[in-house]
Amino acid sequence: MALLFASTSVGPLGTGVGGGVELTLRNLVQELQQRGVAVDVLAPAGSVLPAANVIGVPGDCHPFAQNDPWDSPVHLPGDSVLARMWDWIRQHQASYERVVNFAFDWLPFYLTPFLQVPVAHFVSMGSLQAALDRMLLQTALRFPGTLGLYTHVQAQSFAFTQQFPQCFRVLGSGVDLALYEYQPAAGPQLAWVGRIAPEKGLEDAAALSARLEREVWIMGKMQDEAYWQRIQQDFPTARLTYTGFHDTKELQTRLGQCQALLMTPKWVEAFGNVAIEALACGVPVVSYARGGPIEIVRHQETGFLVEPDNLDALCEAIHQVPALRRDRCRRQAEREYSLPALGDRFQAWFADICP
Ligand code: UDP
Repeated sequence: MALLFASTSVGPLGTGVGGGVELTLRNLVQELQQRGVAVDVLAPAGSVLPAANVIGVPGDCHPFAQNDPWDSPVHLPGDSVLARMWDWIRQHQASYERVVNFAFDWLPFYLTPFLQVPVAHFVSMGSLQAALDRMLLQTALRFPGTLGLYTHVQAQSFAFTQQFPQCFRVLGSGVDLALYEYQPAAGPQLAWVGRIAPEKGLEDAAALSARLEREVWIMGKMQDEAYWQRIQQDFPTARLTYTGFHDTKELQTRLGQCQALLMTPKWVEAFGNVAIEALACGVPVVSYARGGPIEIVRHQETGFLVEPDNLDALCEAIHQVPALRRDRCRRQAEREYSLPALGDRFQAWFADICP
């Protein structure tokens, strides 16, 4: 019997709207299929996932919850794609050994006890809303071991982990290293990669660019156009070159040409897949010490972790980047973030939560 991966509800796979969880899901499908595990993917209609059996579901995608207030109620669009996806699961559950939910939404957690098929949940963000936290805790208590996530620091963002420290399984992330070419030398430019949205703190990269007169190549999904326009107005002397949202082949070519990847998150970054993609290309990562990058970057070896929101410290770290060895970045990616390692961790997780 196959596994069923239920994708994020914010947009079709392949568009980049879903952020890093799209890459994690794609990589896992590839690795598990290579091991002979059958995986079907249930996702919003229009999803593209090469070499996978994708079942597209129509309906309205969900709005982003990143910037909603902590105490906001649970919202569902009128014709919720997520509601339709889980209705599809209800009807077809007998064909699957297990469902793995990748949506960070209240509904799949709520529906879990109503289904016969066992459900595991991969949690791709840190704590955002009280209602969702509450539902996660109920799921953790009722179905122990079924919540997986990226990092320890992400887990700690959920207040209930103080009382129940073992309620999450940390699974990390990984990339197909064969797709990322090691580039031993770089130009003077810096990279900033990610969704263009306030929680990613692009304004701090703009401020650094203006102050150091350094070019920053920006790559990623344009999620908040007004935010991008504001940054350009606020930092007229910043040398920002936005090249769009690229596929992995193009992304790694451009990223590999940069001296460092800048990460300036304003939220608790659950992981930061772009960090391991940069390392795989041999590109050091200079990041605020906030969220996932804390557990990825080897300070002073494969990058620098600086005090969050401290622009002086960020600039100082950039000056020190040329002293770092790019081969060590690639080696860290090979040691810690390969797809086989990721596949092993997920399969061990599934084995441990065998009903
Ligand atoms: N990405 C991409 N093309 C681009 C820029 C980014 O495919 O031009 C992808 C990148 O590979 C990564 C994701 O966007 O998988 C960003 O994920 P991350 O975990 O860094 O942050 P999130 O968006 O999940 O907060």
